[in-house]
Amino acid sequence: MVGDYKDVFGMDGPLARSLPGYAYRPEQAAMAKAVGLALARSEALIVEAGTGIGKTFAYLVPALLSGRSVIISTGTRTLQDQLFHRDVPLLAKGLGLPVKLALLKGRANYLCRHRLELATQQGTLLGEERGASRTLTRISRWAASTKTGDLSELTDLPEQSSVWPSVTSTRENCLGQQCPQFSRCHVFDARRAAQAAEIVVVNHHLLLADLALKDEGFGDLLPGAEAVILDEAHQVPDIAAQFFGQTWSVRQLQSLMRDSAAEMTAAGVRAPAVSAAMTAVETALEELRGALPSGAGRHEWAQLPDAFLDLLPELETSIGDLAGQLDGLGAGAGTANCARRAGTLAASLADLRAVPEESGLRWVEANPSGLLLQFTPFEIADRLREYVEARPCAWVFTSATLAIGDDFSHFAARIGLPDSRTLRIDSPFDYRTQARIYLPPKMPEPQNPNFAARFIEACAPLLEASGGRAFLLYTSYRGLAEGVAALKERFPNPPFPVLVQGQAPREALLNRFRELGNAVLLATGSFWEGVDVKGDALSVVAIDKLPFASPDDPLLKARLEGIRRRGGNPFFEYQLPQAVLALKQGVGRLIRDVEDFGVIVIGDPRLRTKAYGRLFMESLPPSPVITDAAEGAEFLRERLATFRRTGS
Ligand code: SF4
Repeated sequence: MVGDYKDVFGMDGPLARSLPGYAYRPEQAAMAKAVGLALARSEALIVEAGTGIGKTFAYLVPALLSGRSVIISTGTRTLQDQLFHRDVPLLAKGLGLPVKLALLKGRANYLCRHRLELATQQGTLLGEERGASRTLTRISRWAASTKTGDLSELTDLPEQSSVWPSVTSTRENCLGQQCPQFSRCHVFDARRAAQAAEIVVVNHHLLLADLALKDEGFGDLLPGAEAVILDEAHQVPDIAAQFFGQTWSVRQLQSLMRDSAAEMTAAGVRAPAVSAAMTAVETALEELRGALPSGAGRHEWAQLPDAFLDLLPELETSIGDLAGQLDGLGAGAGTANCARRAGTLAASLADLRAVPEESGLRWVEANPSGLLLQFTPFEIADRLREYVEARPCAWVFTSATLAIGDDFSHFAARIGLPDSRTLRIDSPFDYRTQARIYLPPKMPEPQNPNFAARFIEACAPLLEASGGRAFLLYTSYRGLAEGVAALKERFPNPPFPVLVQGQAPREALLNRFRELGNAVLLATGSFWEGVDVKGDALSVVAIDKLPFASPDDPLLKARLEGIRRRGGNPFFEYQLPQAVLALKQGVGRLIRDVEDFGVIVIGDPRLRTKAYGRLFMESLPPSPVITDAAEGAEFLRERLATFRRTGS
């Protein structure tokens, strides 16, 4: 069906009848119409959907009514789970459309029965880590009853647990059809269910792995799809860069050597030649580590000492020898697989060494537990376009932040689809009455040593008026630390609870913020997006500086260098639009509902003093801009009083 979806979204329609509290939103119907057209015409569409449109239902309704097989990809696991467990079933029921639905995650999320068996046999090795064998016992007990094998069912198993890689598989270590557990394999069960489903919910990592035929991807998800809808699509280009790059890690090598030992034990084989080859690999690795400048950190390839680079071929040869020794064992599928993995590791090390200088950035990252060699290509747009064009179906990219003003060219160029149809649908919220944008006057330049204190000083009247209820969002950890100190100095006995990123995991901190109802949270990084606090618990969102990404980040360097090499201007083509989108994300934390209200503070004077400030201003919500803190404080007092009286 392609139409205006009035029958579905209208107040006489099935959604109004079946969803409690449902309200008709013309913006939602408009987006559904555009998505429906893209599906019918099998074309690409980029949609920026402002907060509050209800974009999830706006793409799910046409997807369900189209009767086509659709892949929905999300940026986060939270949204993936929400779509699978709540939104799609709810909507399918409301529309009276039974749908075959599947959730597919990457391999690393599913129990691998074969590796669990190996790990159990090797229990004494794992026992070196406190609690590891207890965890293994718990997993084994759960393994006997789980239907999906999805490790998220074990809610208290930390993702950083060292047991995790021992009970999950990678593309390299999976034995596939030769595995004794193949007929009961959760990974392959999930994959079969996905192939038989009409709607498959995946995440961008898996989708891109599938496109690039890499790692956890299966390479057979996409051929059957008639439409791909990517929500939280602003994350796609960065995730794509990871997949189109190359990574070689010592951890992979160590896990191969552990697995080889385990497979030999399981096969009852003792092979002194293999042990000698492993010792040679370990020695080469030690020498390599010793050739790096001491301490953790990232080292660009061009700055690596010759001694390090000269040792790489030696390591490569020793891994190749190990592959040969394992291959010669003839001890079954397990050791044969280890031989293949060793061969692949040696080959990918050779590939990394041979990468042409002009195609991307290579660097080495060293930390106490490992060593990572990484290559990130300068450009991914062409490759992404090739992949998309090779699958002629509908491709819908949507997010709340894709455009700079009305201009989608930055995002469209990054995904290699500059000629796609685009659509921007503004939020239905009334930003003119719900919010104010406060630009404190006389702020110093961001690099001024007094900036943090002046920023807190500028926010203070608002924090006093709102009695806390604020996010103070920083663009760097250093800024955050300075902000924490400045807040302490300005409010030695703060009249509100103060929470700081790092005191607890992100979700726990956010729950605490919601429970307290009047806290001030100081944070950076991940708190700028995907955070939803409704009601008066969040009435001030204060952003210290314009969020230009750190020039020290090697990924960013790679991209900027790529633009420079093709004669472009990295600042205007990349840094500026990225910062505008990031600011939109941060500002978007304030108004999450029709009843929300508050003040957005932006401390960076460049918003008004630099010519490019106009671009940022044009991308902010259409709220009145004020430069008088008293006006902002008055607005907050009034709105809070009304909220307390009426609940809105
Ligand atoms: S087929 Fe692969 S993932 Fe499945 S149990 Fe065997 S090794 Fe593990």
